[in-house]
Amino acid sequence: MTLLNDQAAGPDPTDALSSVPAAGSRRGTPPVGRLKFCYGPMDCGKSTLALQIDHNHARQGRRGLVLVRHDRSGAPQISSRIGLTRQAVEVGEDTDVRDLVRQEWAQGRHVDYVVVDEAQFLSPGQVDQLAELADEVEIDVYCFGIATDFRSRLFPGAARLFELADELQPVQVEVLCWCGLPGRFNARVVDGEVVREGDTVVVADTEQSVVETSASARFEAEFATVRYQVLCRRHFRSGDLGPVTAHHGQLRLT
Ligand SMILES: [Zn+2]
Repeated sequence: MTLLNDQAAGPDPTDALSSVPAAGSRRGTPPVGRLKFCYGPMDCGKSTLALQIDHNHARQGRRGLVLVRHDRSGAPQISSRIGLTRQAVEVGEDTDVRDLVRQEWAQGRHVDYVVVDEAQFLSPGQVDQLAELADEVEIDVYCFGIATDFRSRLFPGAARLFELADELQPVQVEVLCWCGLPGRFNARVVDGEVVREGDTVVVADTEQSVVETSASARFEAEFATVRYQVLCRRHFRSGDLGPVTAHHGQLRLT
């Protein structure tokens, strides 16, 4: 009798789960895309993984859109440090990512998935657009990027991805601090000192850019005294760059 009265009075808050469809009827609901964020420090193989995911999907006959924001090569492509490259669509500051998908549709091409490299540089609004693509048009979205900047603060795009992504995955390829602990922070080093202030939106790069072909990257590496070094939290906090801070000179190949 009490039960009947409660029901008449309105929805029972303890009964909230009853709105979840049973297995049988759930099969009838439309599938949604997944928004995934794979993150890690510089040099952890994110771009390589982004290209691998694109390759694996394309091999299965799926059509993808590969996007990049500020790739290190300076060209609209994803270039991984181990030498792989793929043409990509550059996402500008004011780009509506949904428009890039609509443009594909307009040319008669469907889009099954989107891969975004350097996703930390997306605006929070662009991350929301990616979530909409996953929810409304069932596109799987794979974002790759760095979580924190050289001040150890979340990039706005990364922060929004942490808030919205269905799945968060630290990239497995471990980059080590000079002490041997996992490297978690990208320290900005100017003239041998860790700096914690300055412009945060710079192309994420390291001294290794000198082995890449881009003229602008080579110029930056050879003539600027700014470089990045991956450190563990302890050494990021203390600013200790380790005993061999000049080792990057070995990478100055012509
Ligand atoms: Zn360390």
